[in-house]
Amino acid sequence: MGTFHHVNTIVGLQTALSHVTPPRTIGFVPTMGALHRGHQSLIERARQDCDVVVVSIFVNPLQFAPHEDLERYPRSLTADLQLCRDLGVDIVFTPSGHELYPHGLDGLTTVDPPRELTTGLCGRSRPGHFRGVATVVLKLLHIIQPDRAYFGQKDAQQLAIIRRCVADLNLDVEIIACPIVRDSDGLALSSRNQYLSERERATALALSQALQLATQAFRNGCVTAAILRQQVTSHLQQFPDLRLDYAELVHPDTLVPLEQVDTVGLLAIAAWVGNTRLIDNCLLDRRLGILAIDGPAGAGKSTVTRQAAHALGLQYLDTGAMYRAATWWCLQHHIDLTDEVAVVEAVAQCRIRLDSRDPNQPSQVWLNDQDITAAIRSLEVTQRVSQVAALPGVRRLMVQQQRQMGAQGGVAAEGRDIGTHVFPEAGVKIFLTASSQERAKRRWQELQEQGQREITYEDLLQQMIERDTADQQRAYAPFRKAADAIEVCTDNLSIADVTSKIVHLYRRRYPQP
Ligand code: AMP
Repeated sequence: MGTFHHVNTIVGLQTALSHVTPPRTIGFVPTMGALHRGHQSLIERARQDCDVVVVSIFVNPLQFAPHEDLERYPRSLTADLQLCRDLGVDIVFTPSGHELYPHGLDGLTTVDPPRELTTGLCGRSRPGHFRGVATVVLKLLHIIQPDRAYFGQKDAQQLAIIRRCVADLNLDVEIIACPIVRDSDGLALSSRNQYLSERERATALALSQALQLATQAFRNGCVTAAILRQQVTSHLQQFPDLRLDYAELVHPDTLVPLEQVDTVGLLAIAAWVGNTRLIDNCLLDRRLGILAIDGPAGAGKSTVTRQAAHALGLQYLDTGAMYRAATWWCLQHHIDLTDEVAVVEAVAQCRIRLDSRDPNQPSQVWLNDQDITAAIRSLEVTQRVSQVAALPGVRRLMVQQQRQMGAQGGVAAEGRDIGTHVFPEAGVKIFLTASSQERAKRRWQELQEQGQREITYEDLLQQMIERDTADQQRAYAPFRKAADAIEVCTDNLSIADVTSKIVHLYRRRYPQP
């Protein structure tokens, strides 16, 4: 936006936001202030992903019990504002209690997340806390209407609860989880670390050490909750000044206690050191990673992704085949493709299943259990698919299914917004490029081989440039490189060269067990 705004009121905030229209995106980072490098990492991620960044600083009375530290919670507004300026934040929102709760806290309309999520872990010793958190976060999301909101994995229970509330209440916002930021000695950063004396701080290191021990055991093949918890508790028992509140292994989304890690587990601990309650956690993940490959048309993505998926034992998530399947369904049901609502309603009935194990064969595709592998390659579908795929509602539906297919990991997908939009949490993101000249040359050669000789190289180059610009400016999920993507330029490289480069990058992140 250019100008830095510090606002205290909802109307001031919404005035500042009133000129932000799609395709420009808004990223939101809710905080309670006393900002440290943990908050900074969230802000930096939002800055990389979004056009406009809003940070709120509000010590929310609704989430503190009467005996808790509301009054003495650290506050450092001047330094926080300076940090936000330095990080390129556009708007900092620092409402008063009265601004957010003009009718007071008694009798307030609140958000009550499901009990299964709020009564375990920290909820056991902090009843009502997550109702307070969910209420204020949902209020802020309604006020700001961001495209994405950023939360730290540090508060894993909060993250799971916010995700669930957003889903249950149909908020149109993506919740992005950011990794825990630690001091060099391992202590997870927290505003509450300021309460610790030097001695207490040394004791507090036991939390991250205990998690390290459990992580090591997990890496060595131990997946049993009882043993992993034992690793944690026996380490913590050596510190008489530390009082353990809980050490539990749960599923990171449902927070249901696990007996063992089948796919992914959250090992979470809370402990008192003196008068300070500290939390920490780690994810124990057995799932294969997700490989996301994005890039402009003609960079060679689809061939390379298929080959890399095959080499790595990943399922190739053929998004193109999914759009073809949706198009086939609409044609089959004689839907008027110019009637956007009818198309979206029809596509909402499609349940697509893919199998792309053979890299040399087209993906096998089932729609509502019917094998339509051959049918989706018809000329009619080929001619119509881009019209159907261009509809934002169709894209939303397909992205939902793609995310479900990737939920257990082990997939490779290519497109234009896989790493930024479909799988923002993918472990390996590649941005495959080639100069526009190289891409136009490849396309031209392809057309020559197919006997289509009318179109000139210069026309193709012009089309390529125009398509890149349109993609970057489109309203729904505009095309851009993810901040954490590795750029691979394919000029003068063979398919085999590019594939082995990608396989190497994936293996560096996910070494073979
Ligand atoms: P708070 O100000 O404590 O409410 O935290 C605001 C946001 O920053 C929450 O989403 C926290 O999870 C996140 N956060 C706090 N500490 C860390 C950390 N050490 N690493 C990553 N995120 C953090």
